[in-house]
Amino acid sequence: MDVLLALPGARTLATEYGDQATLAALRLASQTLRTTLLSDAAPEVTTPAAATDIILSRAGHRLSADSASRLRRVINATGVIIHTNLGRAPLSAAARAAIDEASRDYVALEYSLDTGDRGSRHVHAERWLRELTGADAAIVANNTAAAMTVALSALAAGREVIISRGELVEIGGGFRVPDVLRASGALLREVGTTNRTRVADYAAAITDRTAALLRVHPSNFRMEGFTERPEPQALAALATRFEIPLIEDQGSGWLGFDAVAADALPTESRAVLAREPSVRDSVASGAQLVVFSGDKLLGGPQCGVIVGRQALIDEIRRHPLMRAVRVDKLTYAALEATLQAYRRGRALAEVPVLMMLSISAEGMRQRAGAFAKTLEDAGIASACRDGASTIGGGSTPGETLPTTLVAIRAADSADAMLSRLRQGDVPVIGRIVDDHVCLDLRSVPPDHEDALAAAVVRASASPGPHGPLSMMALDDG
Ligand SMILES: *Cc1c(COP(=O)(O)O)cnc(C)c1O
Repeated sequence: MDVLLALPGARTLATEYGDQATLAALRLASQTLRTTLLSDAAPEVTTPAAATDIILSRAGHRLSADSASRLRRVINATGVIIHTNLGRAPLSAAARAAIDEASRDYVALEYSLDTGDRGSRHVHAERWLRELTGADAAIVANNTAAAMTVALSALAAGREVIISRGELVEIGGGFRVPDVLRASGALLREVGTTNRTRVADYAAAITDRTAALLRVHPSNFRMEGFTERPEPQALAALATRFEIPLIEDQGSGWLGFDAVAADALPTESRAVLAREPSVRDSVASGAQLVVFSGDKLLGGPQCGVIVGRQALIDEIRRHPLMRAVRVDKLTYAALEATLQAYRRGRALAEVPVLMMLSISAEGMRQRAGAFAKTLEDAGIASACRDGASTIGGGSTPGETLPTTLVAIRAADSADAMLSRLRQGDVPVIGRIVDDHVCLDLRSVPPDHEDALAAAVVRASASPGPHGPLSMMALDDG
């Protein structure tokens, strides 16, 4: 070990990965090699120098693999715009710059620059959220699940919350409405049936134990046929009559056509969004509290925003749980920068989720055609075919946008090529349609297309004995 550790190659590894980890990796690599040599009748390694080379190389591979972050940047070529498993909304350039600035320096997070006194962190983003949603007040929690939990804890613990049986839903990643209610200490009072619930059902269930009415947007499925759900206005009027709040879990954070200067939206995108309820409409229809995600259609950082009546927001702000679910300065920085884009009428041009949503069918055809040409120039045959992008991530259930897919036939199998794409230097996530690897550029920012083309070229070469897969096999792990 001492001899090995003194070699320049080992010194380089130690500088990069630390002495302890390098020693452990060299030990493991030499033990593995020793075992192989002892069990091999005709060993290929015949000199100490060759053995040293192999040990150093294997130790280097292991150290590099172990220190690589699991949170790898990937290219999302699935066409699912808000992909929950891939981190939902990518942030705008302005939001990224705001995070960078807020992370370098001290910031006036809980400090009033006017008076020099301690201030409240909850004022950040609030005035713009008020302006964009039409609500009196706003507060931001770590995500929608946290926002719902703190709102219900503050307003309904120990009392009943009335909800339609058709809205006792589960949203991706285990957000189950009954569980959130239970966690906040509220008692669930279900009314109506799975497919039909009327205002009268809610009215009949209201007693002096009732704390709130809850309306949840079924954001990841659609019910068809014989269905009925009260209009939000009617439910809000009922809540007002009994002096209890109507809390609406809107989910997606779609702020509405007015907020995005929608003229630039192609008709197909407009049609999809027209069926998504907007936060502004929920507020206008009289819901006293509206809760929504920051990182779905809003296109900002992960957070859960609560907007609504001042007195209710104040109660939530004072609740001890709010301290546990508050957001940090980086989230405020990114959220404020994202909201700024809306205020400037630039959301469709600057917020990535909305940019991807507003590419027309013709725009996608052109991009796919140009990309297929790039692949062809690199010697890879592909074909363009019609397909459908989904918006995903708990919004616009069942809706798709027309797109053009770039379809590639793998030399071996589509599964094998998809796997090579995932394991490349910049992992690419694609999908298989009719035995072809299909890439949807809708969810790929234009400046990532070169990296995508390079990844496709590498993954198309059938893996020879010295390809990336045999490298993996060399690794002891
Ligand atoms: C997505 C969604 C949630 C969960 O949001 P998170 O921010 O992931 O906690 C809750 N309710 C609805 C209606 C949703 O669409």
